[in-house]
Amino acid sequence: MRSPETHPDACRTDVLGLVYDRLVTERPVTHLKDLPAFQVLQITNADDPELIGVFSHLKGVRAARSWLYHGDADSLIGDLVDVDEATRQARFTAPFWSPSSPIQVGSVVPWLDGYWQAYHLTMILDPEAAWKRTEFTASPAQHFRQGHVHGWTKAGHKLPDDAVPTSVDELGWDHEHCELCQSKIGRGGDDHGYVDRNDRWLCGRCYHDYAEPRSLGFVFSI
Ligand SMILES: [Zn+2]
Repeated sequence: MRSPETHPDACRTDVLGLVYDRLVTERPVTHLKDLPAFQVLQITNADDPELIGVFSHLKGVRAARSWLYHGDADSLIGDLVDVDEATRQARFTAPFWSPSSPIQVGSVVPWLDGYWQAYHLTMILDPEAAWKRTEFTASPAQHFRQGHVHGWTKAGHKLPDDAVPTSVDELGWDHEHCELCQSKIGRGGDDHGYVDRNDRWLCGRCYHDYAEPRSLGFVFSI
């Protein structure tokens, strides 16, 4: 039989649980339009392209390697420099920009810190991503030599161009990492994760926080 002294604690736990649930369910969804947007005002130096522009806001913006996001195929990697806090103007050096890029003077383009990959936005926004809860099972790993370096990858995946395959370890591919938080799924981590149609993994928490509501809130988590 429970002693009466435990009742207040039990009640308090329930109340905290309710508050916590409400905070979680009311977390706002971060859309693509909520990311800092870079409006391109000028493109200079055709041999060493540089985009001069102005940000909509500077939340999370830092002068560093970063992306101007335009889907997986046309996003531009570059370096953001000279961010002026007062005017929100900055320069973005983009060695891979070309005149055929869809990003031109007048474009307004979401900016993404280079900590992330452009595909991280795409996979969360993609209505066809088809995330499936999946139990991780170990599979063969292909070991290879690349110069003096030894590496391995999931068997069947493309090896680096100059790699020489060596041995196969039948259960060597024993975990994956969550694409967004890097937590382990498989050996040393959760048994289950979520996999999209491109064989990318998310942990349960990132699935519920980002993939399910299609929220890009992770970009502000670093
Ligand atoms: Zn995660």
